[in-house]
Amino acid sequence: MSDDQHIPAPLRLFNSLTRMIEAFAPIEPGEARVYTCGPTVYNYQHIGNMRAYVFADTLGRTLSFKGYALRHVINITDVGHLTSDADAGDDKMEKAAAAKGQSAWDIAAFYTQEFKRDIAWLNVRAPARWTVATDYVSQMIDAATAIAVDYCYELPSGLYFDTSKVADYGRLARTTTDDGESRIEAVEGKRHAADFAIWRNTPPGETRQMEWDSPWGRGAPGWHLECSVMSRAELGLPFDIHTGGIDHREIHHPNEIAQNQAIQGLPGVHGALDCAEHSGARLWMHNNFLIDRGSKMSKSSGDFLRLQLLVDRGYHPLAYRLLCLQAHYRSELEFSWDNLAGALTRLKRLVMGVEGLKARAEGVTWQSPRLDYLRANLHPKLVPLLEQFDAAIADDLMTPRALPLLEEATAMKKVPVDEKLCLIAAFDQALGLNLLTLSRADLRVQPKDAQITPEEIEAELERRTAARAEKDFALSDEIRDALIARGVEVMDGDPLRWDWRLTLG
Ligand code: AMP
Ligand code: ZN
Repeated sequence: MSDDQHIPAPLRLFNSLTRMIEAFAPIEPGEARVYTCGPTVYNYQHIGNMRAYVFADTLGRTLSFKGYALRHVINITDVGHLTSDADAGDDKMEKAAAAKGQSAWDIAAFYTQEFKRDIAWLNVRAPARWTVATDYVSQMIDAATAIAVDYCYELPSGLYFDTSKVADYGRLARTTTDDGESRIEAVEGKRHAADFAIWRNTPPGETRQMEWDSPWGRGAPGWHLECSVMSRAELGLPFDIHTGGIDHREIHHPNEIAQNQAIQGLPGVHGALDCAEHSGARLWMHNNFLIDRGSKMSKSSGDFLRLQLLVDRGYHPLAYRLLCLQAHYRSELEFSWDNLAGALTRLKRLVMGVEGLKARAEGVTWQSPRLDYLRANLHPKLVPLLEQFDAAIADDLMTPRALPLLEEATAMKKVPVDEKLCLIAAFDQALGLNLLTLSRADLRVQPKDAQITPEEIEAELERRTAARAEKDFALSDEIRDALIARGVEVMDGDPLRWDWRLTLG
């Protein structure tokens, strides 16, 4: 795929396990097997969660852009996740079911659907496989049975993993079993504070909606076990990349790693995890958090920040995707409505630019062809942009550095428009902003509280234009004031030629 002049940038990614940037070297040449910890479907996901899926999708798209055959798995946790990441609290699903007076299965089905709609709005590609935890319970019991004797012990409350039985426990979190004390609430009889349940028995006298028979009693699998079993079932151990939000670096993923060592029969001695494959994945990647100073993200508050709220306020979901891409995935990103409005303006400009190119394009040759074809055939003025884009995303997904190349490509002078479109389509393969199909009209999302339709506004504005043409400024002002009263700001001379916008609240 490379020639002497244009060597594609080797993909380099940050590995949380080593805390270093490493060259991506897949286990099977040409293939990339990726597992993403998915949602616990007891409630809506907030836009912070969405950042995790935009990140995983951008990684997947980048792998495809670089020519790897991607096999991506995202799981749906519909049982086993407790209200605290440690071994304490109730099962989130059971608790939601009790609170809402509905069946846990119905709740799971509803929020799974809502989640899938949200990520589709964000142009997150569906994975090759969705794994639903309750579909894998018998495999979870088999895996727990296989490691029970050598790595686990039983307590009345269930089967516990003995973290002292594997080398380098907690390496990912940079903790050891000794300093795990403060993170994890005590369960009577646990040998070490960091030990965790891989099977949790239903307390005597209680019945759960989601419970199964097991060699240790009737109960449900532990959340950490679910991911180890589903990733192995669908991708095989070891696989290439495991992703999740940075909170998972502390407890969930160290516990998955400990189980993966046991499941693979590789407990090892100190230093065993120097060989990353013993952990179950070559690379562990984590997105940093979306921070919300207004604290609307918490799931307990009524008006919490989910994608639907952004849409209700008139923001296109892809403006949120662009907001995410404007920050590097390993940096914190602060959410604010102003930042979102800025991202929407940038997206509008990009879409306007592409619409302008499409209007001038002659052929329909702008479906993105392969990278090597582009490198060999693009107009010489565009090739450096392709090289810079490739270098930026290959450098641990530096999307903030890659994005301005879209604007540069659009503005480049004396280059055939078809070729520009072709390049933008190639960039968008990795970025997922739908730039070739979005229209300005799509970006004009109608806020939920709007008291007027776009058609009515356009009609009023036409009346106003006619009044001004006849120099009837009194009528023109009257029409504008009436629009303002209905929440419409008239934007004469807007640089984006947007003409009007709805103002809410
Ligand atoms: P959960 O449903 O709580 O398991 O979370 C789903 C995903 O969202 C996980 O990968 C979390 O690590 C991630 N996540 C949770 N909160 C945030 C946040 N504020 N910003 C970014 N990612 C988050
Ligand atoms: Zn997981």
